[in-house]
Amino acid sequence: MTGERSILRWGSVPVPYAALWSAEEGKMTVDVCRHINHLACCDAEARGVGKPIFGKPHMGRQREVIVNDLCDLCARPLKGRTKVSLSHARVSATGAEGACVMQVEPLVHKDCALVCVQHCPSLKRDIKAGTLFVRQVLKHRHQIALLTTAAVQEFCGVSRDGVAGHAKVELQRWKDRDLSWLEAGGANA
Ligand SMILES: [Zn+2]
Repeated sequence: MTGERSILRWGSVPVPYAALWSAEEGKMTVDVCRHINHLACCDAEARGVGKPIFGKPHMGRQREVIVNDLCDLCARPLKGRTKVSLSHARVSATGAEGACVMQVEPLVHKDCALVCVQHCPSLKRDIKAGTLFVRQVLKHRHQIALLTTAAVQEFCGVSRDGVAGHAKVELQRWKDRDLSWLEAGGANA
């Protein structure tokens, strides 16, 4: 498996491991996803072929990094490192255990979050505009959501029940942070 998850670059820009590539786009099928051992909406597998589509995750790799607790950018384990959420998701108080954030964006290492922000002008703009939130994640868990039959029909062109979509990350405890915290370093704090 070593090397399979190495970071690919597009010009000088590191491409997040879970990002979709153009050769993978528009060919979704219902198949057993090996990362969750369950029927799921699956994109074609052709990482590195064509152009990366930043901001659009590959269904299988999105589930892979989330259920295995890996960084969205470098695909290495998050465990034991400062974990960061860069997400447009707002706090919801509907969780049984109080406030939570439910997001589809996988978590990233702090230094990887900085790389993402430095290479993506829209992330930086959204953080400054207050529509993208920087959070240091202290406790989280993942969930796999099942799609409605209508959604499966729309994505994959077949009518099936019990098909998984994206994995979701539920933030249970976190600290609100900002760009200056991200830029201050201390990646292993
Ligand atoms: Zn990383």
